[in-house]
Parts: sequence; C-alpha cells; structure tokens
Amino acid sequence: MNNKLKDGIAVAGGPQKDRRRVTTLVEVEAAVVARDQLATTREDAVHSREGAVDLREEAAASREGEIRVGQALQAASDDHMLMLREANAHLIIANMEAQRLTEEVQAAKAQLEHAKSVAEKANLAKSDFLSSMSHELRTPLNAILGFTQLLEAGSPPPTPSQTVRLQQIVKAGWHLLELINEILDLATIESGKLSLSREPVSMSEVMLECQAMIEPQALQNDIRLTFLPFDHAWFAFADRTRVKQIFINLLSNAIKYNREHGTVEVKCTESTPGRLRLSIEDSGAGLSADKLAQLFQPFNRLGQEAGREEGTGIGLVVTKQLVDLMGGSIGVESTVGAGSVFWIELIRAVAPQLAIELVAPTELVTQTKGDAALRTLLYVEDNPANLMLVEHIIESQPHLRMLSACDGRLGIKLAHTHLPDVILMDIGLPEIGGFDALKLLREDPVTAHIPVLALSANAMPHDVAEGLEAGFFQYLTKPIKVKEFIDALNMALESTVAG
Ligand code: MN
Repeated sequence: MNNKLKDGIAVAGGPQKDRRRVTTLVEVEAAVVARDQLATTREDAVHSREGAVDLREEAAASREGEIRVGQALQAASDDHMLMLREANAHLIIANMEAQRLTEEVQAAKAQLEHAKSVAEKANLAKSDFLSSMSHELRTPLNAILGFTQLLEAGSPPPTPSQTVRLQQIVKAGWHLLELINEILDLATIESGKLSLSREPVSMSEVMLECQAMIEPQALQNDIRLTFLPFDHAWFAFADRTRVKQIFINLLSNAIKYNREHGTVEVKCTESTPGRLRLSIEDSGAGLSADKLAQLFQPFNRLGQEAGREEGTGIGLVVTKQLVDLMGGSIGVESTVGAGSVFWIELIRAVAPQLAIELVAPTELVTQTKGDAALRTLLYVEDNPANLMLVEHIIESQPHLRMLSACDGRLGIKLAHTHLPDVILMDIGLPEIGGFDALKLLREDPVTAHIPVLALSANAMPHDVAEGLEAGFFQYLTKPIKVKEFIDALNMALESTVAG
C-alpha cells in the first residue's frame, strides 16, 4: 500500500491529473482511515493482550489460591485425621476401661451372691442351732423344775426359809423356760419351719380362754381388765394356737407395762370389710416416737432392761412375725403419759358350718354287734370346733370311741398309755407340731405301728405330698368331707387288723 501511495503523488498535474489527484486524496483518506482503524485495532490488540495477561495473572493467582486451598484442605483433613485417630484411641481405651469395669462389677456381683448365700446358710444354721439348742435346754430344765416341785411338796416338808429358796428356783426356772420357748419360736419362724394351720377361729371363744388365763396376772398387778362384748359371728382365718399366743402376749404386755391401778380395755371390731381388728388399750407410760420405731426389733427392751419386768423383748417380734404369717397386720398408737393401743388385724372368715349331714348310723350298728370290735380313735387337735365336729361324726360310728388331746405333747402321752387303734392328727398344734409328733410316735416302738392320719387346713398339694412322705397313713384336708373321712378311718383300721 505504501508504494501505491508514492505513485499517486508522483503523477499529479492536468484535469486527468486533478481527477487522479482527487482519487488519490480519497485513497489517502481511506488509507488514513484504514491506518487509524489499524491503530485502533492494534490498540485493541494491545488491550486484549493486556487483558489476556491480566487473565493469565488472574488464572495464575487463582491457581495459586487453589493450591493454597488444596494445601489448607489437606492440612485440615490431616488435622481431622489426627483428631479422629486420637478420638479412636480414646474410644479404644474407654472401651477397654468399660470392659474392665464390667468384669469388676460382675466379679463383685458374684462375690456378693456368694456372700449372700453364705449369710443365708449361716442364718439357717443359726436358726437350726437355736432350735436344737432350745430343745436340749428344755430337757434338763424339766428335771430342775420337776424335782424342785417335788422337794416343795415332799415330806418332811421344807423349812420356811427352804421354801422361799425353792420358790426362787421354781420362779427362775419357769422364766428360763419362757425365754427358751420364745427363742425356739423365733428360730422356728426364721428357718421357715413354722407350720400354721389356718382355719376359721372364733374370736370370742379364743378371747374367753385368754381372759381366763390372764386374769390372775391382772389381779396380781392390780390392773382392771375390761372386755367389750365380741360378736359371736366373728371368725378369723388364722391358726388358733398362734392367735391365742398373740393375744396372751399383747394382754400380758398391757398388764406388765402399765401404771399402778391401771386399766386395760380389749375390744374387737370389723375395721374394714373382711378384716377384724382386735385392740388392747393400756393406761401405761406410753411410747415416744423413737421408741415406737424400735418396737419390733428382737432383744430390744426399750430401756426396760433395768425395770422390774423380766423378758427378752422377743415376744413382740414373734407376735409380729406370726401376725404377718397369717396375712394380718399389727400396729400401735401411743401417747406419752396417757398409754398405748396395740392392735392386730386378721382376715375375717365365714363361720364354719357345724351342722353337717351325718351318715346313717343304723346300718353300721347292725354291722358291729357287741363290743368285741370296739376300736379307739385318738384325735389330737387344738381347735374345739373341730374336736366337736369329729366327736359328732364318731357318735354315728358305734364301733368307734374317741379320745382327744389338745396339743402334741399330750397326744403322744395318750397314744403311749392308751394305744389307740388309729390316730387323727392336726398339723398346727401347740407344744409339738403334727409332723414332729408323728416322728416321735414312729420312733417309739410301742406306738410305731399305729396308723396316723393327718387332718389339716394346709390343703396345698405340696402339703399333702409332704405329709405322705413324712409317713402319714393318709392326709385329709379341712373342711372335713364326712364320707371320705370315715372311709379313710376304716381303711386305717383294716390295715391294723391285717397287720
Ligand atoms: Mn390346729
């Protein structure tokens, strides 16, 4: 293009020359425009290049940023990794620690269980020991009491001063016997060997017997006893002997821990439907709250140790355990200076039906003509209602006559002296229980052959199984089913004839 521009200027002159000049000018203008454009373009290019450089720089910067971010990320993830690893290590340690602790806890638990079983065994051994010990202690004590009484009543009669000394021996002996019996009771209850026979027990009847037993003591202590009338329809579902023991214990305490010329009031109410409450109110010193809290602990006499009254403090503990065993409850309300009310609640039972259908006696009379075949039944039972019932049943059996004993000891004595043909034995008995009585009868060669039938209110299958295993000829349960009862009696009698 530069060459063309030089040529144009060189040929200028004339009209043709003018036209050419114009043309050349136009061309020059165009060239200038083009140059300007070119310059602009070049500038643009420069700008672009600068932009590109900027971009490149930016890109470089951002790459650097990326690298830095990447590095930061790497560092961060390294940190996390480290933390994770550390945490993991902690977890492993914690886990091991937990495992160790678990093992320790398990070991401690095993140790505890072992200790518990050892303690239970020891407690059982203790109860067994106390129980056998008490039996052993009673035997020599019987001799002491027996011979002392013989001396008192013997001839020549003792001198007045000898009499006083003998009285001291007898008094101490009876007291010792009482203590031994209480310990024996507690040991028997604690070893779970106490056998209760729960059946309907007339509250008024039992209270009447207790009243007769306790009145001399009240008279001696100058305490006025008041018995509010009992409803004759009130029967408790309980063991008769034990109910009596509970009543006597509470009455005796009310007399003992009373003030001079004090009073005792006894009443029975139906506290809530289905429960009978017997309460015994005294006019004694009353008990403070902290003494009340210790009331049912064994060997705790609440500061009466130095007092005039003798005792072990076991009585109330035994009473509470007996009440608990019979499904009842015991409690006391007391006001210091005014007196205490001891109460027990027992489950109410429906009055037993004594009017039962009896088997026709005539048939049996013809079968047993004459008295050649008269056989003897000994019934050992502490509940008068049951005694009366069996007596009625036996009346319809002319070939039978009945002897009765109201406790195990007397039962064994009668068996030994009268040699009955068959024995009917209650299980829950005073002095010696049915099972122990059976054992003693079996051990004595004189009575070993007599069949013994158990008649008990303990009617659970395991009771029956235990009874048969112990050697009862049959185990009958209360209430008595007359037909079954007579069949069993006859079967027992036949077995003795055959033997
Ligand atoms: Mn009984």
